[in-house]
Amino acid sequence: MISKRQLKEFERLRIRMVEEQLERRGISDPLVLEAFRAVPREYFVPAYLKNSAYKDTPLPIGRGQTVSQPYIVARMMEMLELSGKERVLEIGTGSGYQTALLSRCCAVLYSIDRIGEFVLKARQTLDSIGCLKPFLYTGDGSLGYPPKAPYDRIIVSAAASSVPPSLQAQLAENGLLVMPVGPSYGQNLLQARKKEGKFLIKECEGCLFVPLIGEEGRAGS
Ligand code: SAH
Repeated sequence: MISKRQLKEFERLRIRMVEEQLERRGISDPLVLEAFRAVPREYFVPAYLKNSAYKDTPLPIGRGQTVSQPYIVARMMEMLELSGKERVLEIGTGSGYQTALLSRCCAVLYSIDRIGEFVLKARQTLDSIGCLKPFLYTGDGSLGYPPKAPYDRIIVSAAASSVPPSLQAQLAENGLLVMPVGPSYGQNLLQARKKEGKFLIKECEGCLFVPLIGEEGRAGS
């Protein structure tokens, strides 16, 4: 349980995080900033790390996985160019933090993780903060989620050496896909826009993500 006084303090830290870690580094999309002001990150980290919830860093969530640094999540969400009307597929639900943020910026959200335990926990956390919109699934997201395709936007929070063909196929015309691409020791955020069946690629800043493990993920996984 988090007391009223703690909640106030977390709220103060959250507003400061948005100013210092996001706005000061150039994040300017109002939809994204508003989502970060609203979603309490302390609910999505393990109890022993609650006091670190607003630090400028990724945090462990178990099973060798991490909830990404807030700035990187914000950057990826900005690269998705959301208007609030899109149907979005998120791959790598993890703690559900990014799921909660995304759900405030789109119309319909599907999120998939290969670890069933994470999906159950994320569902509970999202319910506990009243975030009921996202549909969560357990499965290999390197293959996308065919039943609800095509998607206006696809965001992947695990890294691969290239964009999985299934994800390319499940992106709608004029859609955008954002994911970290590169070798396991370091990647770049990539934005792929589908235009007349072809992809226009923009590579942005460097990042470091856990591997996308699956049939169309990292070789050998
Ligand atoms: N966005 C998450 C962080 C995710 S860490 C958050 O806000 O907490 C990366 C996640 O990707 C992990 O939960 C991992 O289980 C998941 N993952 C890795 N490979 C996957 C795959 N092929 N399909 C679905 N999820 C995958």
